[in-house]
Amino acid sequence: MARFALWSRRRFLNAAAVSVPAAVALSACQGFSRPKAGSDAAALQERIAGTVVVKGDETYETWREAMIWQRAKANRRPDMIVQVESAGDVQEAVRFAAANGMKVTTRCGGHSMAACFLRDTGMLIDVSRLDGIAVDKAAKTAVVGPGVFCRGLAERLAEDGLAFPGAHCGTVPISGFLLGGGVGMNTNAWSSGMSVFAVNAVDIVTADGRLLRASAQDNADLFWAARGGGPGLFGVVVKFHLQCFDAPKVIWGATYVFAFDALDEVTRVMDEVVPRLDKDVETLVAIAAAPDVPFGEPPEKRQRIYLDVNAFVASEAEGRRKLTPLLDQPLIARAIERIENRAGNFDRYYSDNEASFPQGHWMGDAVWVDDPQAAMAVLKAHMPECPAPRATPVLLYMGTNPLPDAACSRIARFYLAYYMEWDEPAEEAASRAYCLKVFNALKPVARGSYINEMDQEGRPQDIHECYSPQAWKRLAALRGQWDPKGVFHGFYGES
Ligand SMILES: Cc1cc2nc3c(=O)[nH]c(=O)nc-3n(C[C@H](O)[C@H](O)[C@H](O)COP(=O)(O)OP(=O)(O)OC[C@H]3O[C@@H](n4cnc5c(N)ncnc54)[C@H](O)[C@@H]3O)c2cc1C
Repeated sequence: MARFALWSRRRFLNAAAVSVPAAVALSACQGFSRPKAGSDAAALQERIAGTVVVKGDETYETWREAMIWQRAKANRRPDMIVQVESAGDVQEAVRFAAANGMKVTTRCGGHSMAACFLRDTGMLIDVSRLDGIAVDKAAKTAVVGPGVFCRGLAERLAEDGLAFPGAHCGTVPISGFLLGGGVGMNTNAWSSGMSVFAVNAVDIVTADGRLLRASAQDNADLFWAARGGGPGLFGVVVKFHLQCFDAPKVIWGATYVFAFDALDEVTRVMDEVVPRLDKDVETLVAIAAAPDVPFGEPPEKRQRIYLDVNAFVASEAEGRRKLTPLLDQPLIARAIERIENRAGNFDRYYSDNEASFPQGHWMGDAVWVDDPQAAMAVLKAHMPECPAPRATPVLLYMGTNPLPDAACSRIARFYLAYYMEWDEPAEEAASRAYCLKVFNALKPVARGSYINEMDQEGRPQDIHECYSPQAWKRLAALRGQWDPKGVFHGFYGES
């Protein structure tokens, strides 16, 4: 059986990301949606190689919808969408916005579950076409555009025997993923638990239209903000300077499927055994419906527990040795299906996960937890009421690395996400209400939320919990300093 004929979080998410290329395809439309001659927008269009689309234009709604990767299209409309072709275009667009009193947001892949980049006023800058990759093999570094997809990056780096902790889903671009922290592959070993700590510098256009390099040496406070500030960042990143790593010779792994009644024991093993594994072993648990059991059956009948483990190692022998403490657990004997001794690489990893899957309407939320057993008990209690036909909690061990000093300042031993997918727009309200109820119930056991995957629309008042109190305060102070006129929109729910 193919590995992910079973299930994977990544396959689920990848499939939903099918619409990402739609925005790229739209660039082919350039030229038939030009702003009216003589208008301010036409003046901007003349100065940039990219495309300016204004609310009211014939093609505006197509462009707007294409900015959002999924089928649920948030009902917000910026005044202008500017798809840029270069850093220079970004500078022009930001200067234009500032001069015309327009607030700016940025999108790249449009994967934000709440489409947090979409506001009812101002300018949306689309950076998805900035997708260059330059690798320095000897230095083990790469300079990449925000629009580079994680799979494309992995493929290019593999040619030089290198790797980067990209997203688990290959169709996510590195842009928003890294700026919000990045729960990436093998981050416990490579990058202090979050992928953004493998970013050495960013090139960023600031509110006054300057293009600056921000690193530990240059504009260090801007660099601090870019490493985790996510949707609250006051600038547009046009290049990421990445630290790369020697590619593992093999990704050695296994997947075990359990009946729902094993959930408590699987969670206990995650809590007590998995933290004892080496840092380059990544373990996640997902709960997903068995394909042959109809929606409406109770969780005990319908849900299966998937335990997926991967070691990023130099040899098969090393992989076997590193998985042994987990595979020796009596729990493993209870598996009803299994794939063992899986020798993979990044190509296979992403390919396995990119099997087709019906694209739908979806949302999710994610929190950090130190006590997965308590958190899972909360989820379990709510599962029978879940209105979404496809709903998948995912628990991933993150490690206990102290985070370097940066805006990305909240993490716990475990990442716990819950993804919900439905078919008809009318089903959305019930899923949203349920998701909100579950995550409010999780608050007593959560240690904050993950900015890239939390429900910013449903819980805007909790966005500050994605950051330590000190980091939240410093982000606000830096915003005042770097964007005194408020050219950039703040976090969702702020101005
Ligand atoms: C299918 C799928 C799989 C995912 N897999 C993972 C995963 O494995 N790990 C993980 O951590 N997360 C994952 N996520 C969440 C993902 O990290 C976020 O949705 C992230 O925002 C996606 O990046 P994006 O470029 O599409 O961001 P967008 O949705 O385009 O933008 C989100 C926000 O990021 C900011 N932003 C984006 N680009 C720039 C820029 N160049 N300059 C300034 N600000 C910018 C903007 O403020 C914007 O509001 C996944 C999401 C989906 C839908």
